[in-house]
Amino acid sequence: MSIHADEALVLGVLPYSNTSLIATLFSRKSGKLRLVARGARSPKSRIGVGLEPATHVHTEWSIRTGGDLGTLRSCETLTVFHRLWSDMEAMTLAGRLLKTVDRVFGVSEGEEAHFELLSAALEAIEGGGDLESIEALFMAALLDRLGLAPGLTYCLSCDKKPGVETARLDLASGELRCGRCPLPAAQTIRLRAGAIKTLKEVMTMEAGKIRSVQIHASLHREIIGAASAFLAYHTGKSLPAQARKPS
Ligand SMILES: [Zn+2]
Repeated sequence: MSIHADEALVLGVLPYSNTSLIATLFSRKSGKLRLVARGARSPKSRIGVGLEPATHVHTEWSIRTGGDLGTLRSCETLTVFHRLWSDMEAMTLAGRLLKTVDRVFGVSEGEEAHFELLSAALEAIEGGGDLESIEALFMAALLDRLGLAPGLTYCLSCDKKPGVETARLDLASGELRCGRCPLPAAQTIRLRAGAIKTLKEVMTMEAGKIRSVQIHASLHREIIGAASAFLAYHTGKSLPAQARKPS
């Protein structure tokens, strides 16, 4: 049994028994955690209060060596993102980002760069940023932070740069195919030149810039769609879909 302490973001909670919860958190140094919060469902519990999704907390937990499920010892709220609780669309987006992180990472997987990215996205939402732009930036950067950044410069088949043309991203190879080199049986995503250029630029930018950079509205859905499809294909995880209608 070892005891740890770290800051973390609450991904979600589930009832465990009449009195306890299982909390899933994403910590800065230890990645994703699953912790039993004993007594957290009791009205007298102070722990339960800090376990709302998206809350930034400082937590202490114990875990057996090699174990998957730890025990929450204490949880102190550091930041509550208030916009989430007063703006339904902001909450829906935050919920989707938290769920994406929860699906992509197994217990004890994840690094500080992933924590930083999620944290920066929640802060950008809190700061009143454009929600679709934040989602596009988050998904693009997540690809890069997972080592899954697709190659977006040359057509894999003819080696030419698609330039101003619309090209297709081949999900399996993570490479582009220009209009002259179609891949009939492959799963591909159509990307206009502007989306290719933007995706390339934003994938590797530092997380903190999510607050200041804004992606043009006409490219949001294309970038979110391509990044989500690529991520789902390569992680084998089904990701929460965007609820809004295609534009
Ligand atoms: Zn080509």
